[in-house]
Amino acid sequence: LQQKLIESEKLSAIGKLGAGLAHEIRNPLTSIIGLTHLMKENKHKDEYLEIIIAELERMKNLVNQFVSYGKPSYMEQVDCNLNELIKDTAELMNSNARLHNVNIYVERSDINTEVYIDKSKIKQVLINFIKNAFEAMPNGGNVCLQIESDLKNNEVHISIKDEGVGMTKEQVDNLGKPFFTTKENGLGMGLPICFDIIQSHNGRIKFDSEKDKGTVVHIILPQNNYQERKNTL
Ligand code: ADP
Ligand code: MG
Repeated sequence: LQQKLIESEKLSAIGKLGAGLAHEIRNPLTSIIGLTHLMKENKHKDEYLEIIIAELERMKNLVNQFVSYGKPSYMEQVDCNLNELIKDTAELMNSNARLHNVNIYVERSDINTEVYIDKSKIKQVLINFIKNAFEAMPNGGNVCLQIESDLKNNEVHISIKDEGVGMTKEQVDNLGKPFFTTKENGLGMGLPICFDIIQSHNGRIKFDSEKDKGTVVHIILPQNNYQERKNTL
């Protein structure tokens, strides 16, 4: 019975996600259909084509992200120096930062930050949060990345701080729900994917945000699995 309940919960969750996806796809589809009708009348063809391509791209991205969200994927965990991963990721985002008029920097840290993680997945999480930070600052600003060690709880804390638009409590409560977005061209799939990845590392995510002031995202990862492994080597 327990198993059946879990199965039916899963199905209903999938049903809800599917309904959400259908809703998200209906809008661009409707506009594409409308535009193609207009194109038959031979007006503003190039202009319409541009919009159609953009809408199709958006649909493709939605479907791709949706599929990767639902899929259980392999965790390829390795011992990794988190300082280096964060520095590399910040560097990778540098040209994107300049486009947004943003200065991205990593707070110096001398603590031991070895963790046992899926590097490419954690990098994807960092990139998602950094992008959100950039997008929260339409007039530019600073994004600060920091690592701290919580020795007592055997955890590593990564924080990503921006000086952007911030969020109300109500918005914060919606974070992580598939398709929740306040952006005109947002997909609302970035955070659900981040939550998924951090959860599969037995970590957690917290948000400190103040409207019109900015946001700090905290990613908390356990460090014990790294130490346990070291001890048995
Ligand atoms: P998207 O970026 O496509 O909107 P996400 O899942 O990445 O989707 O984010 C969902 C929503 O969370 C955003 O639309 C925005 O409202 C809010 N959000 C996320 N990060 C921040 C941030 N750093 N500052 C303000 N709002 C944020
Ligand atoms: Mg995003």
